[in-house]
Amino acid sequence: MTQNDISIRKKELRKQIKEKKKNFSPEDAAVHSEKIFSQLESLTQFQRAEVVLAYWSLPDEVSTHNFIQKWASKKRIVLPIVIGDTLELRAFNGLKNLVTSNSFGIQEPKTEELINPHVVDFAIIPGVAFDKKGNRLGRGKGFYDRFLKQTTAYKVAVGFDFQIIDNVPVSSFDVPMDIVLSTKK
Ligand code: ADP
Ligand code: MG
Repeated sequence: MTQNDISIRKKELRKQIKEKKKNFSPEDAAVHSEKIFSQLESLTQFQRAEVVLAYWSLPDEVSTHNFIQKWASKKRIVLPIVIGDTLELRAFNGLKNLVTSNSFGIQEPKTEELINPHVVDFAIIPGVAFDKKGNRLGRGKGFYDRFLKQTTAYKVAVGFDFQIIDNVPVSSFDVPMDIVLSTKK
């Protein structure tokens, strides 16, 4: 496949997954999210981690809100903020300090201090589709591909079962995950 074919295939897949999402209720999402995070908490890499990169979930993503609030007092939780084409990191410092200042509707911590990506030892990453080999398809802007080049963190993708497919098309700049967690059997 040429680079152009791969990019067309990625676009088709994003559309297909968006359709499948419509059959998945907020109740399904809550149940699956809880199970996924309980698997995540049992990983030794998580148990040993001191600085954990999470994301503050949008309604169509594996929900992180309970997880983040549960762990915020025990580990250092950091969240991405969107600056132009890049992701930068800030410490999660409570619900009341989350603000939406980007065009994607994502809530971000409103502190001055940036966290160096090198200090993250465990990264939780959302996406549109994943395969068992760890390949990841995002929303199409390559944010995590650019960001993850800067860190050696253990990379854990989280996705609903309909987001796990046989083969995600990959480009040279796509950064693979170390493990993909879902409730797919
Ligand atoms: P996503 O990972 O969100 O699914 P893609 O993998 O399709 O998105 O990447 C989107 C665009 O981001 C690509 O066309 C590419 O130009 C750009 N991109 C991805 N990774 C890098 C990188 N490491 N350096 C520069 N540009 C990148
Ligand atoms: Mg990519």
